[in-house]
This record gives sequence, structure tokens and C-alpha cells, in this order.
Amino acid sequence: MIAELENLTDSQVRYVAKLLKGADSVSQLVSELEERMVERPECPHCHSSLINRHGKVNKMQRYRCKNCGKTFVATTATPLARLRYKELWIDYIRCMLDSKALRKCADECGINLKTSFRWRHRFLALPSVLKATKLEGIIEADETLFPYSEKGSKQLTRQPRKRGMKAKKRGRSKEDWVPVLTVRDRAKNTYEAILPNITTTALHQELAGKLEKDSVLCSDGYKPYIALSAKNDLIHKRLDVAGGVQVIDKVFHIQNVNAYHSRLKAWIGRFHGVATKYLDHYLGWFRYMDTPENLNENKLFSIQQQLMGT
Ligand SMILES: [Zn+2]
Repeated sequence: MIAELENLTDSQVRYVAKLLKGADSVSQLVSELEERMVERPECPHCHSSLINRHGKVNKMQRYRCKNCGKTFVATTATPLARLRYKELWIDYIRCMLDSKALRKCADECGINLKTSFRWRHRFLALPSVLKATKLEGIIEADETLFPYSEKGSKQLTRQPRKRGMKAKKRGRSKEDWVPVLTVRDRAKNTYEAILPNITTTALHQELAGKLEKDSVLCSDGYKPYIALSAKNDLIHKRLDVAGGVQVIDKVFHIQNVNAYHSRLKAWIGRFHGVATKYLDHYLGWFRYMDTPENLNENKLFSIQQQLMGT
């Protein structure tokens, strides 16, 4: 085929070149930038000309600078980077679904760590608003605690906890722990809220209008749940797990919500502690991921489309 090229006319050569460069204007510009990188190699970070090829990202050649060690693609530090970025979002979301760490996501998508951080929170924010609006049938409610964290904040408002040191008081200590309320029915509709205190008023405000009348609320019997049930015409089943009552009448228990908490904690654990101010984002993302129907290309594509508009 290459030998044949010599027999082509000038316009045919231009046509072949166009085909090879790709149809849309962005791809053409990208391939021109890649050609330029071959002719005049230059690291966009330190301007060294000593660069190596370093795999591919999203069909683009990736390079690694021998001088500063940073990786980049031809569009790095050009206005085109933003356009290419949007195409990378879907890959980034995939990395997130695999619960990969910030740096790993950054490496796989060929973006820097700062961008990886920005994207994560932009993408995380989306499903945090997707919560169940109606819960019915057998409803399980329970709280779980997350350690209070100012991770990533430049100014700490309290003394950081030393590595390996356990929080002093377990339980409902406001300073060290953040209670998360999870309410989940057997159809897996899930509602979550970060509450400073689990009180009757807080529960009522959070769940008003969301619990279908005559449903059965299963809880550990903590008083606010009893009051909540009375106020919302719910039948209340008290599970005294510590006292050995784990199931009542074979169907009333809080094992689904507890299993949900275990999965949530195992997943969040992979991020090695999340800042409390972003906890809501992580909860939302996990709610989204814990529903297998959400994990397909179409759903991902629709998320991507929603993000495109932002
Ligand atoms: Zn460099």
C-alpha cells in the first residue's frame, strides 16, 4: 500500500492524508499537534526536548519527559485540552466505578492530579441528589458513623488525629464522628442523610412525606425511631440485636441496611478516609453504584451527557 502512494496525484495524496488524520476538526488538530511533537519534541512542563513515548491514552500518544518525569499528551497545555477532556470523562467515570484512587484515575486518563481531583468532585456531586423520594413496605432504618475528617483542608479547625490513634469516645460523640442515617426498603429504595444528631425532630424533618402510611419500620428501637413511627402511622418493629433478637416473624430485620453499611464502608475504605465535607458526594455515588441496573454503558452515557451541560 505504501509503495502505491507514489503513484497518487497531489489531490489524492491530500485526500489520503485527510482520511488518516481523521474526519473531525478536533482529530485533525490533534494529529497536527502530534506531528509537531515528533518534529520538535518539547515537554509542556519543563520544556525539555528529551521525551519518550509512554503508551497511549484515548487513542492519543502519551509521552514521558526524561527530565522532569511527567507524562503528557500532545494537547496538554493547549486550548484543545478542554475539548479532549470531555471525551475522557466517560473513561474517568469508568475508573471511578472501579473505585480507583485519584492518582490511578489521573494516570489512566492522562490528566494531572489536580484535574483528577476537580473531576472527581464534579462527578461525585451528580448522584448525591438522587435519593429515594418514597419508601414503602418493609422499611429498615439504621445509622452508621463515619470519622470526622478535614482531609484536604489547609486550615484545620481541630487537632489532627495521629495515625493509628483511635477516636477517644465511640458512639455519638459529635466531635469525632458523623452519623449517617440510612433508610432502605425491600425494593432497595434508599434514602440517606448526614445528621448532626439523630433526634425525633431531625428524623421527622428529614423523612416527612417520604414514608408510606401503614408501612413497617424496622429499627434497633432507638427512641426517635419509635416516635417517628407513631407520627407517620407506621408499624414499628424493634430489633434488639445486642439482646439476641435479630429477626422478628422471619421477615422483620435490619440486616439489609446493615449489609448496605458494610458494603459502603468497605468501598469508602479504598479512598483511605474521605473529607466530611465531601461525604455526601461519596454516599451518593455509592447509592448509585450499589444499584446494578445503573452500571451499564447507557446509564453512564446519560450521566456523561448531563455533565456535558455543566
Ligand atoms: Zn519535563
